[in-house]
Amino acid sequence: MWKSMIMCWILLSYSYANNHFYKGSHELVRVVPKTNEHLQLIRYFEDSLGVDRWSEVLQLNRDIKMSLPQAQASKIKKLCKQYGIDVTVLNNDLDGLIKKSDDISKQHKIRTRRSTKDKNSYHLADYLTYEQIVRFLDEQHKRSPSLQNFTSIFSIGNTYENRSIWTIRIGKPSARRNILMDCGIHAREFISPSTCLYMIDKFIDEVNNRRPSILSIFNIYIIPLLNPDGYEYAQTQRRMWRKNRAPNNYYYGAYSNCIGVDLNRNFGYHWMGEIFFSISCTVTVFILVENGASANPCSETYAGPKPDSESETQNLQKLISQSSRNWDAYLTFHSYGQYWIYPWGFASYMPDDYIELKNKAEIGSEALKRVNGTSYKIGSAANLLYESAGGSDDWAKGVGQIKYVYTVELRPSDDLNDAHAHFAFMLPSTFIEPVGQETYVGVKEFLRSLITSRRQKSLSKNNYKS
Ligand SMILES: [Zn+2]
Repeated sequence: MWKSMIMCWILLSYSYANNHFYKGSHELVRVVPKTNEHLQLIRYFEDSLGVDRWSEVLQLNRDIKMSLPQAQASKIKKLCKQYGIDVTVLNNDLDGLIKKSDDISKQHKIRTRRSTKDKNSYHLADYLTYEQIVRFLDEQHKRSPSLQNFTSIFSIGNTYENRSIWTIRIGKPSARRNILMDCGIHAREFISPSTCLYMIDKFIDEVNNRRPSILSIFNIYIIPLLNPDGYEYAQTQRRMWRKNRAPNNYYYGAYSNCIGVDLNRNFGYHWMGEIFFSISCTVTVFILVENGASANPCSETYAGPKPDSESETQNLQKLISQSSRNWDAYLTFHSYGQYWIYPWGFASYMPDDYIELKNKAEIGSEALKRVNGTSYKIGSAANLLYESAGGSDDWAKGVGQIKYVYTVELRPSDDLNDAHAHFAFMLPSTFIEPVGQETYVGVKEFLRSLITSRRQKSLSKNNYKS
């Protein structure tokens, strides 16, 4: 019965949904939900009326930014009024905001090229294309021929459009512990891949300057662009594209012409908030509950036709599951909001070791703050933001068994009083360097703390033995 009820609801939603992407006019609005009914209404807008929620946060009495497709704007505003939600229009010219950001980036590119003679620094001037990122990795690898065994480059597999997902390993050959970081799961979050590139550059500087203290302990694996298909599409066609580019041919027996799966809802650990019930020894049924992931292919948070359905998801899982590597930490970089988040995302309860996760996040974010004064909020995903099942972070901890797992939501802040909050996903390229700088320092301090706590643990073990 549950299943048929859910099916009816999905098909009903679909009839409203059609093709709501960023094409034509959109209106950016702010709402503040005051009741649980308001939260449910916002989820309905997202799932059925093509609303794109920009704020990761979805909580009572918090500002929520949503982009409304023009065709649905008056209907949504009417519903808000009916249910007592105040709507403030923040921007009714999103194309203008994208243009403003692009203009600042263009000026920055000209200035940076004039002022720097270092050809390796071109990644600071503008957001690179996929091809440029591939070239950048290759150049970084070749920077110091005598130290080439400190780095290696390999592909973890291909995307739907057959692009390789490149990964770089940086570390001394004797390093035995492993760290994994990825960027660019969500296509439109351009500041994320640029931050991974910045960190790659700096870690390789350490190798070149013969200061590989961290790198003699850790091999650091960085995937600068996990969703290259979506990223290319966002760079060339629709700036606000979020998902991958896989078609959704099968949709509960119907054909959907909406493209793309939200990769960060596709990972198969409590996918779609699935809850398993064992009825007898042989029969297990599951129901899907709505928690931050959608069953509608036209939604921005579409979780895919089944768990782990996407090649990008599977490729990351293969890397994490390789038994030869035991991972100390996994960090996945998104934007925006300035949050350093630990699991779980699928439910509001905490992992058993959450205090350790929280302490380490504090060490990282405090070091980050010392660079430019940027403040991050720390907490579990479901408690700080809202339940969102199917994330790579939950899978890395729940299935991959990695202890220290974090989602880092980079700048800008989602506080509307923040001077740069209005840029949201369109942070101009002037931010590549400051965001990269502070994040690199925060991550390094976090890694150092992993070394220290391991030393302390082995010391106390030895003391106990003696
Ligand atoms: Zn994201």
